[in-house]
Amino acid sequence: MEIKAVHFDMKSMIPTAEYSLTLLDELAEQGINAVVVEFEDKFPFDVTAGIHHPAAWTKEEFRAFAKRCKERNIELIPLLQSIGHLDYLLKYPKFRNLRDGGPEGSSYQWCLAIEESYELWCAMVEELLEVFPETTIFHIGADECRMNVPCELCEENRLDLYVKRVARCCEYIQKKNMKVVVWDDVFRKYGEEKFALLPEGVISCVWMYCKLDEEYIDRMVSSGVECWGASCIQAHKFFHAMSPQEPKMRNVDAWGKIHQKYPQMTGHIGTIWGRNQCQSPFNSNLPQSMFMTAYLVETLENGIIEDRKKFITGFGRKFFGMDLDYNTMINYFCYEPGYSEPIVTELKEKAPRHRDIAEIWYGLNALDQLLFYIYSCFSHNDCMLTTYLDGMAPREMTRNWLESVRLCKEDTEKGLAELKPLMLKYFPEKVWEEFIDQRFRAKFERNEYWRHIIASAALKWEENLKKE
Ligand SMILES: [Zn+2]
Repeated sequence: MEIKAVHFDMKSMIPTAEYSLTLLDELAEQGINAVVVEFEDKFPFDVTAGIHHPAAWTKEEFRAFAKRCKERNIELIPLLQSIGHLDYLLKYPKFRNLRDGGPEGSSYQWCLAIEESYELWCAMVEELLEVFPETTIFHIGADECRMNVPCELCEENRLDLYVKRVARCCEYIQKKNMKVVVWDDVFRKYGEEKFALLPEGVISCVWMYCKLDEEYIDRMVSSGVECWGASCIQAHKFFHAMSPQEPKMRNVDAWGKIHQKYPQMTGHIGTIWGRNQCQSPFNSNLPQSMFMTAYLVETLENGIIEDRKKFITGFGRKFFGMDLDYNTMINYFCYEPGYSEPIVTELKEKAPRHRDIAEIWYGLNALDQLLFYIYSCFSHNDCMLTTYLDGMAPREMTRNWLESVRLCKEDTEKGLAELKPLMLKYFPEKVWEEFIDQRFRAKFERNEYWRHIIASAALKWEENLKKE
């Protein structure tokens, strides 16, 4: 297979630019030969100045990243969304006029009847190519276009406009003598025959993360369209450390079968989803996914992994240089982060190789345990509201609650303070702060809200007692 790619979703909890160079070394060592970089708000585009994430890399840092890719024979494939997944732009007042459905419309996709959205996209492409002049393959995204957005300008013929816009974006890239890749799902859903309306040579990237539709893949491949596959090797809404990997392995196995059957498919992307949209909390990230990248490469190079036990044990030895038995490793792949603590602690303290990844896994797992702790403590207060407001909650109950909120916050803040220096070796402080805001401070605020209600409930109980 020509392209064995991993997806570097920069809306994720991105590593520092400096540490990312080490990650490239590790990916190359595993056999990954392409990285699909989805920049979102982490690239400092001049045309969208003022809206970049505070942890965005500089253009110099991106150049260093590209240089290291080249040194490691990794193809850097820029991905710039051309239709939807544009909240990172459209949430700002400056770009509201481009929203599908008008200024109060969708922050998710721009209106394809507005020419300015195409012009902005082209300008962004130019800036990317100025930083990555050696690009030979460009991914224009274009997945999950929503057809149900009410819009006076385009709702009548949105699908036509979609196909025309994708075709134009493809031509724009092809004129620069590059190959262009498009996610396939809109065509799959609304008319696969329309793919023929795109310029010749466009690569259809078929993403299927659960059940694979082999008949569809067969039709696409047989029609002569160049096709890539895409699996989901990491995505979990809650866990950040080694979330359950079995469904991911199953998805890669299914793709392994397809690639064996259709050797004419020329590439595969293992996707790692950093968060649902740019406004949702962080979830998966690249260093977290180094087990699954190894699993993917092994499958793409040598076919389906028949003996997972052998592979997992081998991974422990090869990647971390540690003789970990299967049962210990498999305990790592489960829902309860507490189970994983012994193995990640052992790895962090003893791994002769890739101690960086071991430390990150340890740190993310410790964060997951803290999350598990604070979310399982106080989730069922709402149904008690009238009891509190009426002053009917007994003193022991309110006292317990108030005391546990205090303890929970103190314990969690202590845990976070201990983890911070370790995590800042690998992640920018702004990203760390954002993560803590989303997952922890938001919860503390919520508990603070309840603390006020429950403190006054305690007073009311005492007043009611006096009345009796
Ligand atoms: Zn529209």
